[in-house]
Amino acid sequence: MRFIDTHCHLDFDELKESLPQHLTEAQAQGIGQWVVPGVTLEQCHTLPVFAQQHPGVHIAFGLHPYFMAQHSATDMSDLAALAHQHRAQLVAIGECGIDAIVEEIDAQQHLFIEHIALANALGLPLIVHHRKSHHLLANAFKQCPPQYGGVIHAFSGSLQDAQSYLKLGFKLGVGGTISYPRAAKTRTTLAQVPLDALVLETDAPSMPLAGYQGQPNVPKRMVEVFAHLCDIRKEPAQQLAHALYSSSAALFRI
Ligand SMILES: [Zn+2]
Repeated sequence: MRFIDTHCHLDFDELKESLPQHLTEAQAQGIGQWVVPGVTLEQCHTLPVFAQQHPGVHIAFGLHPYFMAQHSATDMSDLAALAHQHRAQLVAIGECGIDAIVEEIDAQQHLFIEHIALANALGLPLIVHHRKSHHLLANAFKQCPPQYGGVIHAFSGSLQDAQSYLKLGFKLGVGGTISYPRAAKTRTTLAQVPLDALVLETDAPSMPLAGYQGQPNVPKRMVEVFAHLCDIRKEPAQQLAHALYSSSAALFRI
């Protein structure tokens, strides 16, 4: 079985130091491709070289809502220029979205809509961050409908939430969250959606699985996310793995 990790911050400090080891360990589990999202303008500048240095790494550009305080007024137009310049290397726009725990909701909404417009202009899917913000994302999608779909990263929510994203052409990113007892509602949702709605992700070094709390998450754990998903779904593991791989490859055209 082979896998694509559709969301992994391989360039973050927690993973950087032992990155060759992390990648070797992941490859031993059949994980051979990674999508590394952008989070700040400064970090996006470093991603094209990072991808060249690490075969199997694909990149996206975005300004993460979590770092709102760090983004300056001109960052989005600079990001757009950088994205046009590196269009050939990009597989998506993101990580972008709306985080209701972070302040400046109006500014986040505005910034997110600019990311959608950029993705539409470049013909790319979106990598969307959400936290307590399904209604705010829906509002942004109404104002600027995304044309190339994307991933709702670390999806958690009801079947109704899921269906509204699927209608817009999104996949649901399935990560370590499903390993926790408190994720019962999300597990029920993930059991009910069509198989081609799902893609796998670790969000490493964030989102450690149950049993690994307090440690940085690492890329090889994606096979454990997959094992949890196998418990939830009724398809045989082989069929599930194949579907996850082809959905991810098709979405990002990799
Ligand atoms: Zn992320």
